[in-house]
Amino acid sequence: MREFVTLAISLGKRISGERDSLVFLFTEENGIIPAQAISGYRITSKLMPHLETLRLATVRIVGNTGYRIADALRISHQLPVTSNRYKELLRAAYIIRKLLPFFSQEPELWRLLRDEILGTRTSGVQTSLTSDVLCLLGYDPHFAGCALCSNPATHFAVEDATFYCERHGKTQNALSFTFAHEDNRRA
Ligand SMILES: [Zn+2]
Repeated sequence: MREFVTLAISLGKRISGERDSLVFLFTEENGIIPAQAISGYRITSKLMPHLETLRLATVRIVGNTGYRIADALRISHQLPVTSNRYKELLRAAYIIRKLLPFFSQEPELWRLLRDEILGTRTSGVQTSLTSDVLCLLGYDPHFAGCALCSNPATHFAVEDATFYCERHGKTQNALSFTFAHEDNRRA
């Protein structure tokens, strides 16, 4: 059985089976690893506090085809205090989880998210985290047009990975969102 230790950012989890949960661990070397946390939903679980969404943790993973979290120890850090920054981080985690295939290595994206979580991000502070994340995932919003009317895009629907303008973005499902879009604002 393979066993390895890695630094991971939790992108959230979903219930798996009766009591267990599947945690989406974003790693620098292996991209997203979906790993089972056995009885992760028990109140007495020692694992889950270390695997809350956006937590940076050292995780011990075992398994061959499926992966299981054997141990987790979170790195001591504060999550952002301002709700806007926290919301943007949650959105970034959601986008990555939805658009990045499992085990697809994206070290630059991983470092961007880590730096943003730790508050040590230095470059690109004038652009929104959302547009940076989209760019790194191959969806460059800067010159994108609305899928319905070709107006400059200001919204992105994660579910179908599609850009929309202000008007059409609002008529799409609630998962669409606006992002800082300097080029289009000037247009
Ligand atoms: Zn439109």
